Amino acid sequence: MKRLPGKLVKILGIPGFAVVTLALLAHISPARQASSQAAKMPQAMEPVPAATPFVEEHAHFDEKDPAGAVRSAVAALGRENAAMIVFQISPDTFDHPGRYDSEIILAEVKKHPGKLALTGGGGSLNAMIMQSVANGDAGPGVQKKFKARAEELLREGVIGFGEMTAEHFDGFTPYQSALPDHPLYLLLADLAAEHNVPIDIHMEAVPREMPLPADLKSPPNAPRLPANIAAFERFLAHNPRARVIWAHLGSDFTGFRTVDLDRRLLQAHANLYMEIKTDPDAHGRNYPFATDGKIKPEWLKLFTDFPDRFVIGSDQHYPEPKDADKRWQETILLFNQLPADVRKKIGTENVAHVYGNSLAPYLRAAKN
Ligand SMILES: [Zn+2]
Ligand SMILES: [Zn+2]
Repeated sequence: MKRLPGKLVKILGIPGFAVVTLALLAHISPARQASSQAAKMPQAMEPVPAATPFVEEHAHFDEKDPAGAVRSAVAALGRENAAMIVFQISPDTFDHPGRYDSEIILAEVKKHPGKLALTGGGGSLNAMIMQSVANGDAGPGVQKKFKARAEELLREGVIGFGEMTAEHFDGFTPYQSALPDHPLYLLLADLAAEHNVPIDIHMEAVPREMPLPADLKSPPNAPRLPANIAAFERFLAHNPRARVIWAHLGSDFTGFRTVDLDRRLLQAHANLYMEIKTDPDAHGRNYPFATDGKIKPEWLKLFTDFPDRFVIGSDQHYPEPKDADKRWQETILLFNQLPADVRKKIGTENVAHVYGNSLAPYLRAAKN
């Protein structure tokens, strides 16, 4: 069933009387059903907010209307029971028309301190890495420019570096691939540690070199994917004071971002954090929900074994696209199933820790 969140909402969230209403509607005449549904469905499909406050730590925005995107995100806070929303900049390349970075929305975000925040570098630092991969130049001149740009973003007011990428399939932005132990990634880890900000990185998991999964097209994607997990571990080990958030746990398109791999890496690298994302329109190959809408036991065990290492980052776009199911909603249906003490950490406390001083003062006020 494509509209899973609707299904999950029915299973997990909406009041019993609304389920009964829907069941009754199924037994009345089509004409009556149509008019009754028009009246009843909006109520039945009311969003299910988070059981306790959370930070949406990975969202995107309509770069053509930053003011409208900010309005829509601020309006969503109450509906979702979100304490804050952090916007990320999509990882992009210099060749891609329409590339942008944090400056496009920064002034609007700054109007809502404590409610909205922004990372930066997806449209510049990430593009510099992709350019360096393409031309083989990671020399002192390139490193100097990279460092200057990273420090400029921080001076302007971003709270982390993101969304960076090491393996990214073609989508809103082009196919991109760079080993995470590339010299500029190691430099970024040092800069993140020095300035006490995290790095948010999107990387399809590729333990061993492999052909592109059969459901993806090449071109635009590469026909073969380079192994990246060993390089990712070198990146994590390079500067243990650099906090790294591996994006999109629960939304795996190679089939190798397994609970076992995540567990092993969390055990081995104390500076590694993960963002939970589930996409009702693209489940991927390691989807945390069983068919009854409950979290699969091995996933629940992962979250409860490492309660300090996860944050919520659903990859929701604002304004919320009308033709797509809501990522935030499905991710929150997972969040709501976590034990209360784990939910408190994953909801707000871990974000406060990962982002250091930039968010912690605001999040202390969130009532868990
Ligand atoms: Zn991403
Ligand atoms: Zn993203």
